[in-house]
Amino acid sequence: MNFRHFRHFRHFRHSRHSRHSTIFFVFLQKLILMRIDIITVLPELLESPFNHSIVKRAKEKKLVEINIINLRDFANDKYKSVDDYAFGGGAGMVMMIEPVFKAIEKLKSEREYDEIIYTSPDGEKFNQKLANQLSLLKNIIILAGHYKGVDQRIRDYLITREISIGDYVLSGGELPAAAITDAIIRLIPGAMSDEQSALSDSFQDDLLAPPVYTRPADFNGWKVPEILLSGHTAKIENWRQEQSEERTNRFRPGLGDKDGEKG
Ligand code: SAH
Repeated sequence: MNFRHFRHFRHFRHSRHSRHSTIFFVFLQKLILMRIDIITVLPELLESPFNHSIVKRAKEKKLVEINIINLRDFANDKYKSVDDYAFGGGAGMVMMIEPVFKAIEKLKSEREYDEIIYTSPDGEKFNQKLANQLSLLKNIIILAGHYKGVDQRIRDYLITREISIGDYVLSGGELPAAAITDAIIRLIPGAMSDEQSALSDSFQDDLLAPPVYTRPADFNGWKVPEILLSGHTAKIENWRQEQSEERTNRFRPGLGDKDGEKG
């Protein structure tokens, strides 16, 4: 559990703000644990992923605030251009530095950021360990790339971390940004109704999750393992642990080794 915001709460109690609206605003601000700003040229693509299930509830509980920033709002010309031809020729457009610079500068003038992430196929591979690390941060920006990618100077001068969600190429960084954001948010304490549930997920302890079953216990003769119906908690726990280990050995041998696959 993270209590960073309560420090500010004490300060707030002793301050001399009298107007209710200010007090309410300050209170709300301190209550939000994490803020994620996503810069994109396709805000529509990000509308749905954050309005359902755990992420939606985390937003409603003010555990996280997600802001979608339309890069075109920072374009220089009336056509709202954010891309241009590549120097040196070659196919594909490149995202220009100026709109991205302006968008990031504006955000940075409002608060401090712990990381400014660029989603990129050649970045550090995203995994549960990285999701855990990022879930402890307060403010992050995620820049979703498009076209051929972004002007390299954005990566050299503005970005603090580059993350890939796997060795394949997508059309844009929106789906990666949504995947990263989702994985982070479900780890924020309070986001899931049963915190144990996040802790027992695959990778969380370098083990894959055991199989799960629900009613009916017998479907067309396909039966649920007897042990799960026994009501014997300790034995069930034991069975789950064995299943986890067995599945990890079978499907992901070496998970948790020093080869970078550590969850
Ligand atoms: N020419 C680039 C790919 C551009 S794809 C290259 O070969 O590396 C367009 C954008 O989609 C990228 O800028 C990036 O932001 C995003 N993207 C594509 N695949 C991704 C992946 N596996 N992980 C993270 N972001 C990805």
